[in-house]
Amino acid sequence: MEQPMKVEIITIGDELLWGQVADTNAVFLGRRLIQMDLQPQWRTTVGDNPESIGQALILALKRSRLILITGGLGPTEDDVTRSALAQALGRRLVLDEQALQDIRERLESRGHRMLSSQQSLALLPQGAKTLDNPQGTAPGLKLEVDSRLIYILPGVPREMQAIFEQEVAPALRKISTERVIRRRRLRTVDIGESALSEKLRGVARKGIRLSYLPQPWGVDLWLTAHSANAREAEIFLSRATRQIEERLEDQLYGVGEDTMERVVATLLIMRRATMAVAESCTGGALADRLTDVPGSSACFERGIVAYSNRAKREILKVPKRILDRFGAVSQETAVAMAEGVRKISGTDIGLSTTGIAGPTGATANKPVGLAFVGLAHQDGSFARRFLFGQDRLVNKECCVQAALNIVRQYLLKL
Ligand code: ATP
Repeated sequence: MEQPMKVEIITIGDELLWGQVADTNAVFLGRRLIQMDLQPQWRTTVGDNPESIGQALILALKRSRLILITGGLGPTEDDVTRSALAQALGRRLVLDEQALQDIRERLESRGHRMLSSQQSLALLPQGAKTLDNPQGTAPGLKLEVDSRLIYILPGVPREMQAIFEQEVAPALRKISTERVIRRRRLRTVDIGESALSEKLRGVARKGIRLSYLPQPWGVDLWLTAHSANAREAEIFLSRATRQIEERLEDQLYGVGEDTMERVVATLLIMRRATMAVAESCTGGALADRLTDVPGSSACFERGIVAYSNRAKREILKVPKRILDRFGAVSQETAVAMAEGVRKISGTDIGLSTTGIAGPTGATANKPVGLAFVGLAHQDGSFARRFLFGQDRLVNKECCVQAALNIVRQYLLKL
């Protein structure tokens, strides 16, 4: 079978290297290439320095057949991409009369006179063809070097994207038919990367690759299928998904764009159940996530942030003796909070969170990251203990995910 085409992205700009601007061009190009079944193999970022740009190009020409470059195409002195590429390729920079005229017309149509610095935009490495820039003045460029295809696009994301869609994507679609790539995201919860990879040993066989993206209290699993045709790639994906479903059971909560809150809201609505939440350590984040789901008013009744012990007592009616004896962060308090919110709101389910988000608040036997989630329903109530990490905000996110997952597990068993 033919080898996939080697593809490389090069982004140019000091500001990218120095962390002043996020390299969204590389992100955009990576996504679009994958959608077209072209898998980028390398991504290089270099500063506005002719020597580095030249070296990056020479290296890319050795290893890649398709090279996409962005940045440094403008008329200012720090825009050195055109001359650096010409020099690295041993080609002259020549004035392209047609390009010059196009640029002049474009400027005049917007009521501007061409400045002498802008004439440099029409200086192209010999053999380069221009690509129309519908959003700006600097045209993109296309070059062929020993059957290598090079596209050079401006750095301004809006301009780069416009030229890519209008000029580059149609050409790439024609050459990307040799191999197809299909990707699918499977979302897991309540499991870490290592445990997950052990459970899934052997799933990544020929044609399928697995990658693991850690999430708060779970891992997103990306399946990538490579094949000569789309049908086979889909079969690879479905086969791997089935295997993973069998091995993970209820740790797999969603596919693709599914979110935990959407899964929970859908289950609640299907079971015609309503829910209210009482939050301490999550500070309203649980209610926030639930209300992200359109139509959640059909299942979500209210959320109460009961942060202090007084609020837990006054609003949720958590008995003082429970708070005194077991503390606010305890199984008993979590259960009492869940029962309390269920009672005052008259819902089928009451859900609660209480924990030590950190960095302060730990005691000898209650470390930072300790949390309890309580669930009360018509036949009883329970709470589960968790130990998350040291980071306050991550702990909140983990606790929300864990709490939603408890409801999901409860509803799945009904
Ligand atoms: P111009 O015609 O504006 O001079 P150019 O091709 O010279 O375009 P640059 O000067 O490199 O582009 O960058 C122009 C703007 O686009 C800057 O604000 C820069 O920060 C931004 N930019 C450049 N490269 C990227 C990138 N890879 N990702 C996101 N933004 C970028």
